Amino acid sequence: MRRLVTVGAGALLLLTGFVASSLLGRAGDGPVPTVDPVQESQETEYETDPEVIESVMTGGVPVGRWKEGLMFEGISPQPWLRSAANWLPGTEEVQPDEMRITFMGSAPMLRPGQMNTSIYIELGNGDTFIFDMGEGAVANYLGAGVAINQLNDIFLSHLHVDHFGSLPWVYAFGAWAGRWHEPFRITGPSGRTEKDGVAYMVEGMKQMMHWHREAFSVFPTGWEIEVNEFDFRDAGGTAYEKNGVKVIHWPASHAKDGASGYRLDWNGLSFCFTGDTRPNTLDIEYCKGVDVMITETQPEVISISSGVQGVPPFVGRYTVDTHHTPAYAAGYIFNQVQPRIAMATHMPFDPYVNAETIAEVRVHWKGPFHFGAPDMVVVNVTKDQIWVRDGVIPDYPNVRAPNAEASIALYGGLVVPVPKYQREDLQGQFIRDAEIDPDLYYPDGYHPVLMPRWPTDKPLFIPEDKVPESMRSN
Ligand SMILES: [Zn+2]
Ligand SMILES: [Zn+2]
Repeated sequence: MRRLVTVGAGALLLLTGFVASSLLGRAGDGPVPTVDPVQESQETEYETDPEVIESVMTGGVPVGRWKEGLMFEGISPQPWLRSAANWLPGTEEVQPDEMRITFMGSAPMLRPGQMNTSIYIELGNGDTFIFDMGEGAVANYLGAGVAINQLNDIFLSHLHVDHFGSLPWVYAFGAWAGRWHEPFRITGPSGRTEKDGVAYMVEGMKQMMHWHREAFSVFPTGWEIEVNEFDFRDAGGTAYEKNGVKVIHWPASHAKDGASGYRLDWNGLSFCFTGDTRPNTLDIEYCKGVDVMITETQPEVISISSGVQGVPPFVGRYTVDTHHTPAYAAGYIFNQVQPRIAMATHMPFDPYVNAETIAEVRVHWKGPFHFGAPDMVVVNVTKDQIWVRDGVIPDYPNVRAPNAEASIALYGGLVVPVPKYQREDLQGQFIRDAEIDPDLYYPDGYHPVLMPRWPTDKPLFIPEDKVPESMRSN
């Protein structure tokens, strides 16, 4: 008789544990093979000698565990990850002592798969932070299941548009989609003059969006922006401190005053992000000993890249030498900082760039290294382990409903504000007179109750037990 033995898919990932628990005599709850009996005419004689089985199952395992090649201590998947290869939206809670970092945008040039720079930080205490909000990155946040009104607490490294281009969209659609009871909070550096600081940019954005803000004010909306502009010169100054989370900043060298690097510390975990910068000693000083260090890198492939990206070589060289971090320098800095893992972002994720980047980084840095690119690279960070995976989001995800928790915490229910305007406040009657009578296009037997005016001049109060489940935190 031949037996067909099938082992659950998870068993291969857990092989080490399986070997340890099943063969080395430890108590374990490893996977149990399921057996499908298949009748055959001949009996099979099985090898059952435990010593032979153990020698097969543990062959090549040094000191009782797998450790191969150049993998590093502590770089391994945490046990609660649903897949060691991929992160999928809505499948894993951030653990109480975990920091999760997701690259929602990873390049200065926009292309499918690489939006402009944005790094999302989720902490085990429920707090979330966004470092830079480059053009297009919002699509990845929505694909990852983040509600629009939860895109908040944004820290800008500097005001090149590839680092804040999504702000107008998030400002306007967040105002519409439930950010009604808390301001849109933006933190960033001052500049050499008042016009060079983040507060001036925000005022300019409001002006640029005058028409849009007025138009959207026929809806319940919230337009308040809280700007926290810090002195860019104040190296090591505190940009944020609340709820056990501290963010400090320092000046970056990026051709113009008013660019910054950041470090966030919480619960014994930390990450730093240099922003765009020439390699400098302040990055070493303030990132020292960090768990995850993220910097930009530009490898020495200027002339090849000119053909790929359309940048003339002399412009490319000049751009790097006045603004950016060569990959050799990134490796040098990593080696000074000694992070638990070093990450490179803000570059095209192309094979020729990647191979060169790794080779250059490795000249000085021999420790754990991974690309913070392309988009949706997910980093799980705990005290003992760090693991980097490819996040997978649908091409056509649904947008999550607004999250009502902030309102419920404040009022015990969802308060929907009164719109500032009705249509007649913003639009000439002659235009509405030209609208086609709905009776002409709705067929007999189908006529929805239309809502051409917001039906009340009072704020709505929806008690907590009536708030739709889709608007609650999951
Ligand atoms: Zn940039
Ligand atoms: Zn820049």
